[in-house]
Amino acid sequence: MPISSPIGHLDSDCFYVSAERVRFPCLRGIPVGVLGNQGACVIAKSYELKAAGVKTRVPIWEARKICPEAVFVKRDFRWYEVLSRKMLDVLADVSPLVEYYSIDEMFFDASELPRVFGGSMREAALQLQQRMLQEVGVPVSIGIGESKTMAKLGSDTSKPFGVHTLHELTDKQRFDYLKSIPVGELCGVGRRSQAKLEQHRIFNCLDFIRADSKFIQNLLTIKGEALWYELQGESINKIATSRPPHKAISRGGSLGGKTAIAKQQHAWAVRNVERLIEAMDFHGVFARKFSLSLERPNDYGWGGHVVLSEPTNSFKLLCAVFREMLDRSDSRDKAISHMHLIAEKLSYRNEIQRTLFETTYSTHDGRPITESPIDQLATLKQQINQKVGRFAIRSGETLHLPEIYADETNDYDICDVQGKMCF
Ligand SMILES: [Mg+2]
Repeated sequence: MPISSPIGHLDSDCFYVSAERVRFPCLRGIPVGVLGNQGACVIAKSYELKAAGVKTRVPIWEARKICPEAVFVKRDFRWYEVLSRKMLDVLADVSPLVEYYSIDEMFFDASELPRVFGGSMREAALQLQQRMLQEVGVPVSIGIGESKTMAKLGSDTSKPFGVHTLHELTDKQRFDYLKSIPVGELCGVGRRSQAKLEQHRIFNCLDFIRADSKFIQNLLTIKGEALWYELQGESINKIATSRPPHKAISRGGSLGGKTAIAKQQHAWAVRNVERLIEAMDFHGVFARKFSLSLERPNDYGWGGHVVLSEPTNSFKLLCAVFREMLDRSDSRDKAISHMHLIAEKLSYRNEIQRTLFETTYSTHDGRPITESPIDQLATLKQQINQKVGRFAIRSGETLHLPEIYADETNDYDICDVQGKMCF
């Protein structure tokens, strides 16, 4: 087996709550819930709130009944990103390779830790944990292993505020450890894969590595086979310091409740088009395929897509495309709770030759929507917003959502954290 550098995985414990406790120390040691959009549902909870029986995604009125002494605060992704970047800085100082996996999770090359901090790997990891607490203020759990899968298992199973150095286990300890972890807890094994494995009497991670690798590949494709090698201690999935090119970009999410009012539904579509274009501009792409998916609590929801003849990022064109899909969905007078806009068939702007002429999209009733390849108004809007603030200039159609724009916390969303690896 090739000898590779030990890999670390660092994961903040109940990150949103911990981040709130950094700026509001009075929240320490008490049950705390962080609320999502519109302050309706619990999206993160402290260990005290979890112990009281409050689960993620319950509405605040239920959470209050279960735990009346709890304190609830509204999420502030801008602040969480500030702390996330600080975590990244601390880690980059002690490791030559860091992968920003999510807002509070990072993989890193751990080979330098003992030299930087002195002592054994375990002692060094404990010191890194202390340094995070002192310099950023958030508690983290750290796993070290021969592969990313083992490192992540290590941090997952040492929470809260633990350190697990799995590459130092003896064979016997390693087998006992793998036996104690249900296969469904592996990152990358979803419910369907778990059910398939269980049909073959593979219940825990030890059963998993004792199965034949080709059998696992047949059952779970090469991704499953990679997991098999990673659990054996062979690093297959490398630390990725830059993000692979996007296949799709999406924006949308909860409407913070539900609405059956057509004007509001359109307003949400326009808001999400503005966000989608912003993300496409950030990544320097145009797209040709656009999909809309709607969740409607009272039926199965709706999904549809449109493929254009030319790649675009035109606000005018995309508004027409999504508005038409919304009309096609027949959602008038039907409550919508979630809306997702997805851009696919992406082309990087520096790699394509765009048409010099106007592009026309014909709506189903024959109405032509023309797009100029150079949209001066959109460029001006982008420049002003970059200078003055996000949504400082926005479409008049979003005026039907006054409460969304009046609330500053909605200026920033978790998916707007740019540069992250995976979400
Ligand atoms: Mg975490």
